Amino acid sequence: MTTVYLDNNATTQVAEEVLEVMLPYFRDLYGNPSSIHTFGGQVGQKIRAAREQVAALIGAGPEEIIFTSCGTESDNAAIRSALMTRPDKKHIIISRVEHPAIRALGAHLATQGYRVTELPVDKNGVLDLENLDKSMTPDTAVVSLMWGNNETGVIFPVEEASAMAHERGILFHSDAVQSAGKIPINLKNSAIDMLSISGHKLHAPKGIGVLYVRKGTKFSPFLIGGHQERERRGGTENTPGIIGLGKACELAAANMGKENTYVKSLRDKLEREILRRIPQSRVNGDVINRLPNTTNISFEFVEGEAILLLMNELGICASSGSACTSGSLQPSHVLRAMGVPFTMAHGSIRFSLSIYNTEAEIDFVIDKMPAIIERLRGMSPFWNTGKQACRTQ
Ligand code: PLP
Repeated sequence: MTTVYLDNNATTQVAEEVLEVMLPYFRDLYGNPSSIHTFGGQVGQKIRAAREQVAALIGAGPEEIIFTSCGTESDNAAIRSALMTRPDKKHIIISRVEHPAIRALGAHLATQGYRVTELPVDKNGVLDLENLDKSMTPDTAVVSLMWGNNETGVIFPVEEASAMAHERGILFHSDAVQSAGKIPINLKNSAIDMLSISGHKLHAPKGIGVLYVRKGTKFSPFLIGGHQERERRGGTENTPGIIGLGKACELAAANMGKENTYVKSLRDKLEREILRRIPQSRVNGDVINRLPNTTNISFEFVEGEAILLLMNELGICASSGSACTSGSLQPSHVLRAMGVPFTMAHGSIRFSLSIYNTEAEIDFVIDKMPAIIERLRGMSPFWNTGKQACRTQ
């Protein structure tokens, strides 16, 4: 059975070109870039080149790039640095639909004496900047808003939001883990102070991330140790990961057009055909202002986990918008924040594509989905009787 991988917001395949450039750093060029000897020093030069490749993808300068271990570390480092460098301020603003790397951190900080405001979104997952305006106070240290949502793909107006924060002297961070490499990002003239990227979402390996910190922004390191990353992140560098991420960013820049034409047209075909062939299905989130590779579709009166299991039997990989919490399926915090009705939120599937998907794969999925949903609805007493809820909560 072949695999049809439509779960690229969870993680991506390492690009062949990326793997190629990484291999020498495991086999031969294993020196420590901090070493005085030439053997290690030559690796340091390659890291400098990778830093430039990463910076070029987001319109930054190489000195503004800090290599980390993942998107979660970058998010944590950004928020904590903002709070450490502004110790008199005890308020942070995030949104209700942030990834747990921000939201769970916010919940933790709330137990440590900080005030955390979570901005709401509307039924399409769209943020109202008026709410941001009203929420900022002289006590606010940082606003952190994601660029593109991992579940729905909805894009937040981070440029406008960062300008509003700057007007009040508030730092602005954006979690761009899902956006980097998919849509253009140019930080050159933006008011964004810090931005997170994760390698494994753009065809680099797991275990490498980036935190962009605007030149001149005060920074307090999260990992304190050696002198690496100009004292901003201690720890011996993940040299193969860094070299691989540099290549992945170069490829992403070259493939950006393809993301917004080829990938988008495959995503649109998948979505259009599913909606056409399957009754009582709908897309969650703003369908215009969204990442080109993502669609989140709800199928009424079926459970997402059951859909995933049947898809899995056919080798189709995707994610569901509900998770098993304390023995019962709970819709994701993103769908709940959007107020997606219970019977819809339960049966939601996120399909996330990449440049490596083919039209034949999409046709295969389009062909198989109606029977999967029909089979599950055939077993659902609620579908058959037309009752309004799968379960009472
Ligand atoms: N932020 C967003 C929006 C994500 O989608 C993810 C991963 O799914 C992360 C942060 C965390 O990234 P990592 O897995 O590299 O820690």
